[in-house]
Amino acid sequence: MSTIKPITIETIDDLLDYGYTLALNCQPCDRWVMADLEGMKEAGRGQQSYVEMKFRCSECGEIASKQLRSPLAWKEGQSPFTANPT
Ligand SMILES: [Zn+2]
Repeated sequence: MSTIKPITIETIDDLLDYGYTLALNCQPCDRWVMADLEGMKEAGRGQQSYVEMKFRCSECGEIASKQLRSPLAWKEGQSPFTANPT
């Protein structure tokens, strides 16, 4: 048996490299948004750990909960999230 080395996904760069998306949920607002990973990378935050980042809801200011989505989790058009990368 060969040992499979687990893939560590920790930084914004990792998410982009593996095609993951980071969904943010504000429960009080019942709102989903996708984190702007490309924008964060361009802002020089690619090496920062998304785990340690805190995202605030732009409407109510609550801390949003983070959910990592694998690239295969949703088929095209079936994502329940609001995708608005600009
Ligand atoms: Zn909110």
